[in-house]
Amino acid sequence: MTPEPAGIVVVGASLAGLRGAEALRRGGYDGPLTLVGAEPHRPYDRPPLSKHVLAGELAADATRLPELTDLHARWRLGSPAVSLDRAARTLRLADGSVLAYEALLIATGAEARPWPAETGGGLAGLFTLRGRDDAAALREALVSRPRQVLIVGGGLIGCEAASCLRDLGLPVTLVDPNPAPLARGLGSFVGGVIASCLRDAGAAFRPNTMVHAFEGDAAGHVARARLADGSTIETNLVIAALGATRATGWLRGAGLKADAGGVTCDAACRVLDADGAPCPDIYAAGDVARWPIPLYGDRLIAVEHWGNAVEQAAHAARNMLAGPGDQRPYAHLPAFWSSQFGINIKVIGLPEGADSVAVVQGSRSSRRFLAVYGRAGRSIAAVSFDQARWLPAYAEAITAGAAFPPIIDATDQPRVQTAAPGFPSPRQAAPARPSTETVDV
Ligand SMILES: Cc1cc2nc3c(=O)[nH]c(=O)nc-3n(C[C@H](O)[C@H](O)[C@H](O)COP(=O)(O)OP(=O)(O)OC[C@H]3O[C@@H](n4cnc5c(N)ncnc54)[C@H](O)[C@@H]3O)c2cc1C
Repeated sequence: MTPEPAGIVVVGASLAGLRGAEALRRGGYDGPLTLVGAEPHRPYDRPPLSKHVLAGELAADATRLPELTDLHARWRLGSPAVSLDRAARTLRLADGSVLAYEALLIATGAEARPWPAETGGGLAGLFTLRGRDDAAALREALVSRPRQVLIVGGGLIGCEAASCLRDLGLPVTLVDPNPAPLARGLGSFVGGVIASCLRDAGAAFRPNTMVHAFEGDAAGHVARARLADGSTIETNLVIAALGATRATGWLRGAGLKADAGGVTCDAACRVLDADGAPCPDIYAAGDVARWPIPLYGDRLIAVEHWGNAVEQAAHAARNMLAGPGDQRPYAHLPAFWSSQFGINIKVIGLPEGADSVAVVQGSRSSRRFLAVYGRAGRSIAAVSFDQARWLPAYAEAITAGAAFPPIIDATDQPRVQTAAPGFPSPRQAAPARPSTETVDV
């Protein structure tokens, strides 16, 4: 097929893709612009899916992202990119068309890790939650009032779903291989607060528990979970909240550094080829991109947070339009929020890897507090539960590599006591996770 000239091509028409395309136009690019999206929908927002959409407060199709600039773009929706030929500067879509690109922004994000088919993954009543259609299907199943819901995985999405489902009055059990929910991202010291919220909300929390397989009834609908210890839990609706893998399968054979942990970029968001050299015409942003973060020792990290998708896409677009001599490094302090059990949680920095944590304001028992994480005597991250007012001050301290425990000037908290953050060992935390680092509490 003759390649269609497509100008700058953005692959992945979601948050990072849309904001990147807008930044290209704002930055003065007036050539052809093409957005390729696997889903049939215009870009929509994912955070409400596990909150307001599950709760029935917002329809799944009412999550469309505002389009802030007139893009004058060609939208190629509903047909994913399936391969990339860097020598020919073309990419092929699933519908067989071939696009010739001037430059490429990879923003293909991540996909929910599915439950394996050989241990019950194909049964009806088993859901994952990543996209708008997942949320609509799950919401529809909830409306028919399942007898017993089982949530596998106590990360952000598992906990937010548990919170919504308890608000709906549905019986919920949450199982997690770790001692506390959110333990992988925030540690058990802080995650223990969410464990108490789960219990107070009337959910059954089963820590240190692994599901081995799901079994179905004669109609092929999920009926029970068989646990690693041989016991069973009866259930007729399962939410598998197992984290995500980066959507990089379409890049196989393209000669780039890419795998299920992400597409590797340099500090300027340029994608690295298999030899580690930056490609001058291929950039990446959002959940799919991993890049060296100086604040964390230049470790290659993929950050699965809304704020990163927006900022990194704009930064990548800026560098795409700049000359090779003006490639600026992307400086970003990771940050995310969550709302669950009536609590507004905000996190700045990357708590994982901390060796110590200190509550600097409020208390865990009141569920209103601000805690700072430290590593080797430096403050590296902070979390607030309904206490975000002082977070910006800690953001500055973390960026500056301030001492830990932080020196604070709060009369209500004269002494700061440190504790072990309680991060699980990798084996405890992660059945079948990809080998590269990702941040997806
Ligand atoms: C349920 C849920 C709740 C969340 N809540 C929060 C929150 O409270 N706070 C927070 O900070 N973050 C939250 N996040 C994370 C946040 O939504 C993501 O960080 C953000 O969506 C990343 O945007 P992205 O564009 O990089 O990737 P994505 O949103 O994953 O979009 C990637 C797009 O690329 C498409 N695509 C994939 N492969 C191809 C291909 N080969 N060709 C073409 N298109 C392709 C996908 O279909 C998708 O539309 C949440 C995520 C989910 C799923």
